[in-house]
Amino acid sequence: MDRRNFIGALGGFAIIGCSPRGTTAPAPAAAVAAGPSPAVHRLEIGGSILHVHTQGRDSLPIDMLAPWVAQSAAMIATYYGGALPVPGLDIALLASSGSRVGFGMHQDGRWIRVYYGRHCSTETLARDWVMVHEMLHATFPDLPDRHRWMQEGLSTYLEPIVRARAGATTDAEVWRRWTASMEHGRPGHGDRGLDRTHTWGRTYWGGTLFWLVADVRLRETTNGAQSIRDVVTHIAGMGGNGRAQWSTSKVVAEADRATGTTIVSSLYAELALAPGDVDLPALWAKLGVRAEGDSVVLDDDAPLAALRQAITRA
Ligand SMILES: [Zn+2]
Repeated sequence: MDRRNFIGALGGFAIIGCSPRGTTAPAPAAAVAAGPSPAVHRLEIGGSILHVHTQGRDSLPIDMLAPWVAQSAAMIATYYGGALPVPGLDIALLASSGSRVGFGMHQDGRWIRVYYGRHCSTETLARDWVMVHEMLHATFPDLPDRHRWMQEGLSTYLEPIVRARAGATTDAEVWRRWTASMEHGRPGHGDRGLDRTHTWGRTYWGGTLFWLVADVRLRETTNGAQSIRDVVTHIAGMGGNGRAQWSTSKVVAEADRATGTTIVSSLYAELALAPGDVDLPALWAKLGVRAEGDSVVLDDDAPLAALRQAITRA
C-alpha cells in the first residue's frame, strides 16, 4: 500500500493531500500546467457558492461533473442541518487517465482539487468518496500540523456517515471498511500518542478511531442525546470552518462544552497525549459488527446495535 502523502506550501498555507486509502498522488503541478484554460461553473448549495473549474485535456462535460460536486456538497449540508458551513469553495476537477476518482487536496476552506479519470461513469462519480472527504475538511478548523490526525480522522470518519445517511452507501459497507482498516490506527511499538506519532496509519486511522470512540462514548453516556454531529455543528456554528485556524485545545474545549460532558477531553488525554489503545474486538462485539471474509454481518441483537444504527441513519 502506498503511504505517500503530498504536503506542499503555497502562499503561506499548507496544502494537504489526502490518502486515507493510500491513494497514489499524481504530479499536481504538471497536470495543471498541461490543461487548457479552465471553464468555470457556478453552483449554490446549502447557502455556499461553489465555483467548479474543469481542467486537463479531454475533460468530461460539466453536465456530468456538476451533479457529482453538487451531490457531495448537498449530502454534507444535510448532515449539518441544511447549510454547508463554509461561504464558498473553488473546486478544480482535473481530468487524468483511467475510470476512477483519484487523489484529492484541500486548502484553507477555499480550494479543493480532485483528479478523476476521464473514463469515469456517472455511477462511479455518484459513489465517489474523495470529494466528500475533501469538502469535509472545509467544514472544520485548520489545526497545527502535529494535530493533523484530528482533521484527517474527522474527514475519514464522517465521509461514509454522510454518504450512508444520504443513501449513497450502505451501513454494511461503512462498517466493512471500518473493520477492515481501523486496525491501522492502533498504536504500535514505540508510539507516543496521536499528537507525537505522525505515521500514515496513526494520522488517518488513528484519527478515525479517535472520533469513532468519541462518538460511541458520547452516545452511550447520554443515551443518544449527544454525538459527534453535535460537536461539529457547534464548532461550525462558531465559524470554525477551514478558513479559521484554531488550536486543538479550543476544539477539545468546545467539544466538551457542546455536549455537556468531558468525554472528548478525556479521550484526547488517553489517545493523543499518551499511546492509549482501543480494544477493537470488544468494540465491534458491543456494536454488533462481525467481519466475515470480505464482508460484515451486522447483529441487531448486540448491546449497542441501536447506537450503531443511529450513527449512519438520520
Ligand atoms: Zn484528508
